[in-house]
This record gives sequence, C-alpha cells and structure tokens, in this order.
Amino acid sequence: MGSMKVDLKGMSLAETEAWAEEQGLPAYRARQLRHWLFKARVRDFEEMSNVPKRLRAELAEKARVNHLEVIKREVSRDGTLKYLFELEDGYTIETVLIPERGHFTLCVSSQAGCAMNCLFCLTGKQGLKRNLTAAEIVDQAVQVKRTMEDPDRLTNLVLMGMGEPLANYEAVVKALDNLIAEDGMNFSHRTVTLSTCGLVPQIRRLGKDTTVNLAVSLNAADDETRNRLMPINRTYPLAKLLSALKAFPLPNRRMITFEYILIRGMNDRDEDAMKLVSLLKGLRAKINLIPLNPHPGLPMEAPTPERMLQFQEILVRNHFTAIIRKSKGQDISAACGQLSGGRASDQRTVISGQGGVRDVEE
Ligand code: SAH
Repeated sequence: MGSMKVDLKGMSLAETEAWAEEQGLPAYRARQLRHWLFKARVRDFEEMSNVPKRLRAELAEKARVNHLEVIKREVSRDGTLKYLFELEDGYTIETVLIPERGHFTLCVSSQAGCAMNCLFCLTGKQGLKRNLTAAEIVDQAVQVKRTMEDPDRLTNLVLMGMGEPLANYEAVVKALDNLIAEDGMNFSHRTVTLSTCGLVPQIRRLGKDTTVNLAVSLNAADDETRNRLMPINRTYPLAKLLSALKAFPLPNRRMITFEYILIRGMNDRDEDAMKLVSLLKGLRAKINLIPLNPHPGLPMEAPTPERMLQFQEILVRNHFTAIIRKSKGQDISAACGQLSGGRASDQRTVISGQGGVRDVEE
C-alpha cells in the first residue's frame, strides 16, 4: 500500500478505461492491460509484450500489478489444496482449492482474520487483522490459476474462506465484479456464492449490487442458541435476518443456501430440526448440514452419524433439500472453520522461492 499507484486488479473495466484516458492512452490499452492481468496472469508490466517498452516503464510508475505470494501449499489426502498467501504487509491468508467431480471450487478469503467471533470458528479466535482490498480478493483466483495444470477447470468460487465478506462490503462487491467480468476472471454468477453470518443491512444492499448466490451461516434456529454460537445474532436476530432474506431477489430457480453446523447437544435434536423447518418455511432454501470440524481447544463435537441422518430426515420429510456435507481437507486444517492463516502453529516446512510452488504432503 502506501503508494499513490492505482491497483489495476481492483478496478473495473470502466474504471480502467477512465484511468487510461487520464493518462492520455487510447481506450484499447485498458482492455489490453486487463487481458494481461486476468487471462495471461502476468506479474509484471515487463511481461506485457505487446505494450511498447517505454509505455511499460511509464505504466509501472503509475500503476501496480500486485500479486499475493504463495508461501506454502499443502495437499490433503482427499486432493484438497490449501494455499497460504502472504500479503504485502506481512499478514497471511488462506485459500482452498477443492476438487469436485470434473471441476474445482475455490474458497476465497475476504479479510485477514475476522471480527465476528463465532464460538466454533478458528478464524474468529485471532480477531480482525484487516480487510482485504478488492485486488487481493481477486488475486487469490489469479494466483491459484497460475499453479493449475488445467485452469479452465476452476469454474466455481465461494466466498467462504477467512473473514466476513459483508463486513468488507465495498471491496467484496468490486472484487465480484472482476471475478465475474468476461474480460476478468470470467466466473459465471451462477457458480459464485457469497456466504455471510447475517449482516442484515448489507444483505439488503447485496441483492441490488450483485447477482451471485447467497449463503447464510445459520447454525441455530432460535435466538437463544444462535446468540450463544454467533454474537452477531445479538445485533441482527433471526426475525430481522429472515425478513431480509425473504426480500432477497432470487432469479429463476435460485435458492438461498443455509449452512447449519451440527454440534452435539447444542443444535442437533429433533426439535431443533423442527424449529428449522418452521423458520425457513416459505423460503426457497437448500440446507447444508456440516458436522462440526474439530480444532484444538474447541470444547464441542459433532453428533453421531445416526443423529445427523435423523436430523436430515426431518428436513427432507418437510420438503427441504438437505445435504450432509463432509468437509474436505480436514487433515491439513483446510475445512470450514479451520482456517487460521497461521504458520507458527505448524511445524511443516515452508517452501518459497522462485521456481513456483512445491507441495507439502501430509
Ligand atoms: N463469515 C462468513 C464466511 C465464512 S464461511 C460466514 O460466516 O458465512 C465459513 C463457514 O464455516 C461458515 O458457514 C461457518 O458456519 C463454518 N464453520 C465455522 N467453524 C466451523 C467448524 N468448526 N466446523 C464446521 N463448520 C464451521
């Protein structure tokens, strides 16, 4: 940061064109720059071979081609890859690349740390370090693609990594713009999902500012339980949250996804499932049931498989789509709620340097 240079990966096409014009450049230069940044994914103006040499030097004085540094990449037994990125000011974030049948999903962070302090989540334990810039959010996809054999197979993106995306609203909406732009990262808005713990005013804005999918980390169907698990519920209790969700525009057959962590003895009883049914009645809702992922010092555990099936059964009987989602990447702490961006906590070798990334295997 600190410099007055513009950060091109965080700017829309229109902004880039306006900036180019201010520099006395023809409009096509803006498109050319974006091609180098998002399609060719270069790290330096010097690599932009169809830009005249003198102009490259001039651009480098006025603009930045930021990039996150991969300082470690770990591979899980199930094929999940966890990237540890270093930001320019030394903070670290994590991004997770998840193999699915025939394609990959990228789980992207929106903040270094998180201020929401949910009881079950490791990211929350470190507090908020800082918001990511739009460029830093987009660049996670750019840098991960650089490491992939077949980058075209990265088709899905979820804002479910570290941080609360709606607490970093402006940067996230800007980043989504470049993630979805055809001349940007070209994800389809149908395969991009933003997940929130439930910041009501921003949910109301989001429906107007973007067309991506919305997911809500619900985790409890009554205020008493949710207050205990997620402090944000004291500010935006369930009634407020649900009324914002009912007003959220859903094109075509879209549904809102609800994440519900199952925690033994806290939110996993039959009556909890019934409360969930009545809470979500009338909403086009898909429910992802996630068995609680453990991490050191967490005094809670997942229910038995039988309990989870019974919970799911109640939802399905009441005509909801409910899926039990085994988190991937548990063995490398890449699963939901396990992202810490930490390196000290971890004895494995850190690999860095010029020649791309080497994998640290379990
Ligand atoms: N702040 C946003 C984005 C993060 S998504 C949000 O809350 O939606 C991270 C997801 O991981 C959330 O759905 C959260 O409920 C889930 N999660 C957090 N800790 C977890 C844990 N220990 N086990 C399973 N899921 C967890």
